[in-house]
Amino acid sequence: MKPTLLDLLFLNRKLFSDVIPESFLRNRRREVNLAEEFFRFAKRHPKLKLSAKDAVNPKRYPKIVEMVHKELGIEWSYGGWLENRKQLFADTYLKETGAWIHLGIDINVPVGTPVLAALVGKIHKVGSDYPEKGGWGCFVVVEHKIEGVVFYSIYGHLASDDLLTNLGSEVTGGQMLGKVGAYEENGFWRPHTHFQFISAQEMRLRENPWETRRSFLSKTALPESSCLSANSRKKIGPPMDIGGLL
Ligand SMILES: [Zn+2]
Repeated sequence: MKPTLLDLLFLNRKLFSDVIPESFLRNRRREVNLAEEFFRFAKRHPKLKLSAKDAVNPKRYPKIVEMVHKELGIEWSYGGWLENRKQLFADTYLKETGAWIHLGIDINVPVGTPVLAALVGKIHKVGSDYPEKGGWGCFVVVEHKIEGVVFYSIYGHLASDDLLTNLGSEVTGGQMLGKVGAYEENGFWRPHTHFQFISAQEMRLRENPWETRRSFLSKTALPESSCLSANSRKKIGPPMDIGGLL
């Protein structure tokens, strides 16, 4: 049987670099389900009268995430793989598509944090869907090849400054692709980067960058990033620390 992209990524996990700098990985962090943490936080602080609308308020939400991190005793967080965001993002573009299940990993780190390529490859696509609210903001897609199989990694919600923009140019694993953007250019979200793998087949269907946001949420892309998912660790065997693969 032909190995899936998931198998391929998992078997070759030693080839992958962290997607945020090593110095940052030393800081206290943990996996969070941001939707759950948001509503827990809202319950703990009834005086703030928080509602799901605040989760898409680009000025308010970053402060809430900061407070959530503080209360959890961490400096940054990651997670979101297969998170159902129906409750949290009910009023966003997701309503149109019903694609509530989040298929990548969100890394909640401050504006300006460098975002690094996960693996050697070449720049396939760079773009921005500014000024769309709830979009990708600035994003980079890198093409990779392992054992003859072509696939892509996506890095979303970046800043326009310091973005690698030379299409076709080679990048090495660990090379900086850009930096985490502020809400004005990251699609009007909290500061974070969205990291995901996608198969070549899925990518071919979506060559128009304006479609990417929705296409990357397509279910057919779903298995490809699961080897990076904390939730799937149990399913696929040996534990993979975020520092080892992300
Ligand atoms: Zn995301």
